[in-house]
Amino acid sequence: MVSFALNGVGVSGGIAIGRAQLVSHATLEVAHYTIPASKVEPEIARFTNAIKEVQKELENLHAAMTSGDVPGEFGAFLDVHWMILTDPTISDAPKKIILEQRCNAEWALTQQMGVLVDQFDQIEDSYLRERKADIVQVGERILKRLMGKPGALPAPVAEEQTILVAHDLSPADVIQFKHHHYGAFLTDVGGVTSHTAIVARSLNVPAVVATHNARQLIRDSEMLIVDGDAGVVIINPDRAVLSEYRLKQSELELERQKLKRLRTKRAETLDGVQIELYANIELPEDLAQTLDNGATGVGLFRSEFLFLNRDGLPSEDEQFEAYRAVAEGMEGRPVTIRTFDLGADKAIESLEGLARVAPNPALGLRAVRFCLAEPRLFLTQLRAILRASHYGKVRILVPMLASSNEIDQTLVMIDHAKEALRDQGVPFDSGIEVGGMIEIPAAVIAMDAFIARLDFLSIGTNDLIQYTLAVDRADEAVAHLYNPLHPAIIRLLAQAISTANKAKRPIAVCGEMAGEVNLTRLLLGLGLRNFSMHPAHLLEVKQRVLTSEVAAAKPIVDRIRRADSPERISLLVDKLNAS
Ligand code: PEP
Ligand code: MG
Repeated sequence: MVSFALNGVGVSGGIAIGRAQLVSHATLEVAHYTIPASKVEPEIARFTNAIKEVQKELENLHAAMTSGDVPGEFGAFLDVHWMILTDPTISDAPKKIILEQRCNAEWALTQQMGVLVDQFDQIEDSYLRERKADIVQVGERILKRLMGKPGALPAPVAEEQTILVAHDLSPADVIQFKHHHYGAFLTDVGGVTSHTAIVARSLNVPAVVATHNARQLIRDSEMLIVDGDAGVVIINPDRAVLSEYRLKQSELELERQKLKRLRTKRAETLDGVQIELYANIELPEDLAQTLDNGATGVGLFRSEFLFLNRDGLPSEDEQFEAYRAVAEGMEGRPVTIRTFDLGADKAIESLEGLARVAPNPALGLRAVRFCLAEPRLFLTQLRAILRASHYGKVRILVPMLASSNEIDQTLVMIDHAKEALRDQGVPFDSGIEVGGMIEIPAAVIAMDAFIARLDFLSIGTNDLIQYTLAVDRADEAVAHLYNPLHPAIIRLLAQAISTANKAKRPIAVCGEMAGEVNLTRLLLGLGLRNFSMHPAHLLEVKQRVLTSEVAAAKPIVDRIRRADSPERISLLVDKLNAS
């Protein structure tokens, strides 16, 4: 066995040692095999059955519409998908291919889709050409049915020693890991602050992305070492390398155990400045880890994860139960529920095709824009959050604000939801606080225009960096340009924090920068007092807070604010951490 190493970008630290398990995707890999003549009829029946199942899936989605939880355009989109599904080019032509070529149903369908997509590419009318995306979505629905449970990841033999190797994983795929305990994962593509990487960090397992061709080079069951800090993967390591990494692994574990002692300690700097350390969560299940790591609140509940990996949308009651569980679990400590940030890399299957395929999804109908464009969906969520506010200290956080009219419209929607609940005699916290996420440069530059309408602010540095530097956070081809230490980012952070402090509005950072221990002193020196991060990073950051002095950091941070290159800033940050 040849031993070799691959380099990628480490997005979640730690060391894992285990066996590779390659992950296939319905859309990426379709098996192609021939079948004996005697199996042709059953294969055609299998295909017909998959079509029927997808018909049922669409019927169920139609039925969900009557519950009022789905937007109007959704009906039209379902009708288009129904027409495609029942068209003989999709429902009959593959049967002919199975018969003639004696191949499996998946392969027959994939071939037929290829023919149809080619035909669509040649159409001049741009509206009709865009319907290609609908054909592909219907085809994928059928493929998923043929290949087993939609979107399901493989069930590993011994999860802790299983290292998943995939070409790409969506945030929806990775969130499923919460129900498993894989040892680590690797992907060929992906950026440091992609949602896939963020969820990986919250799982507290090592992860390396942007390995370029791990999926091709690694074979099932091969022995792997994943070093999530160095971003390195070693395939078929020899004995000496293995024992070296086993030693490193146990040292890291020891460090982790030591940090546990800080769980109940108050986060305060050496010069007595009190700091709030909150947790970012994706699902109510994350509560245990949040409490285990001593969070004093939830600073970001990424509620959109409730919408992923499912047929249909979560009802008001289902959302309410999830929010209430977190509100009650935090026992009076703040729980900040971000209204759903769907779109871009978190598109949901049940709403796919609702809008045309956006030419540039990160700049498209995402987050608050999507919420305001779909008032019924938004109102359902706002009602659920308000109902949960009766059971704890719940706050509403609105993502991706760019202009003040988005806040005005959101506040009107919240008032509508309150009024309806009042009329129905449903209890809620009438003084619920509403905050805004600062993640678009425009929101920092024009912050004084809307700060008065908000109770608190939270800086989403992941998006702020993406939009300021024009670097797609999920694209590994430009990952080297994604730099939190760019002078523009430092200046925007300084401006946002000082504007909020002057206006006496609490401001937090809830992007990945907050959990990056090497940046803790920089943020403290910029005036930040509230941090929200994945629970896995809380104790490490607390330890840094406990050994920092804000007054001592100030002079270096002032130099950082004036510095004009990322390299210079990086050197000054090292100096800050060395003191
Ligand atoms: C951010 O953009 O920094 C943020 C916290 O939100 P998300 O990562 O979910 O986009
Ligand atoms: Mg964001």
